[in-house]
Amino acid sequence: MAIVDQALPHVANISPYIPGKPVSELQRELGLSRVTKLASNENPLGVSQRVEQAAQAALKTLGRYPDGNAYYLRSAIAEFTQRTMAEVMVGNGSNELLEFVGRVFAGPGDEIIFSQYAFAVYGITAQIVGATPVQVPAKDYGHDLAAMAAAITPKTKIIYLANPNNPTGSFFNAQALDAFMQQVPAHVVVVYDEAYLEYVERDDAPSGLALLDNYPNVIVTRTFSKAYGLAALRVGYLLAQPEVVGLLNRIRAPFNVNELSQVCAVAALGDQDFVSASVALNKQERSKVITALTQMGYQPLPSEGNFVCVNMGPNAASINQQLLQLGVIVRPVANYGMADFLRISIGTEAENAHLLSALAQVS
Ligand SMILES: *Cc1c(COP(=O)(O)O)cnc(C)c1O
Repeated sequence: MAIVDQALPHVANISPYIPGKPVSELQRELGLSRVTKLASNENPLGVSQRVEQAAQAALKTLGRYPDGNAYYLRSAIAEFTQRTMAEVMVGNGSNELLEFVGRVFAGPGDEIIFSQYAFAVYGITAQIVGATPVQVPAKDYGHDLAAMAAAITPKTKIIYLANPNNPTGSFFNAQALDAFMQQVPAHVVVVYDEAYLEYVERDDAPSGLALLDNYPNVIVTRTFSKAYGLAALRVGYLLAQPEVVGLLNRIRAPFNVNELSQVCAVAALGDQDFVSASVALNKQERSKVITALTQMGYQPLPSEGNFVCVNMGPNAASINQQLLQLGVIVRPVANYGMADFLRISIGTEAENAHLLSALAQVS
């Protein structure tokens, strides 16, 4: 028997995560020079100048292993979030941390709850650890928190919540979250994923930090990949009770966040002006893009993130192909069971203009 037949069945059954197409790949395939990538919710302003300077200075230190405890980064995060360092853990993207939670708290026979149309990594994590994924039907393309609470059983170990959610952009408010939390038993881990926190400008937004104070079973995850503009460097962090961080640290590889990433994340956290400028750009451009898409007859879902998920009808896959030919990469979400939708990240003014002019040409 070949070794491929020896793989654990719950691993062999995983459908791989499909990332956005890299710019260089489309350039290679079609020989295009101008390519606009609006497929992975990155910051269209790129990297802040302060981060560039910090990166330059850090290059000289790359001969040595990084600080395995990420002291300066965790200390900067602790100060920024007003928590203690013992409550902070950093990861190779928040993706790694989301998976650590699964590996520490769930295994075969356990259930992991998440919403239909929620971030794909939650379901993949359930499969990686051999737990049973419990996908709760969405309501208006967002989390149905009441149905999620009703789905809790004695086997439930973890509940993943994304707010705002990717790929739909949906959002739930503080009151809804609190009502939900009151129904969750204290032994069930609730992961509150705030990857798009910075873009939310609503008075009724929940605060992950307040959640931590009120519910010791909560783990909050955040990322430097979106508003902070460090997607390539793979850095995220989580906030949890010190004992929980201690448990998660047992399965962490000693140097999971590399030196350049640590240094750049400290600089990025210190450049809140850049974050504000990014959020302001997103706000202005998102409403322009939504208006334009609506005028073209498409139906964008409401979004609190730096992207918009658009119902384009049965032609969505063909529109995606035509956009690629025109040098615009967006994200099909058929793998989420949303074959009629495309998810489009909000870019710079010029990038969004490229998108809209390309869309005007598709049939
Ligand atoms: C992008 C994203 C993340 C962050 O991923 P990283 O691994 O930190 O780059 C986490 N959760 C959601 C919902 C996301 O969309």
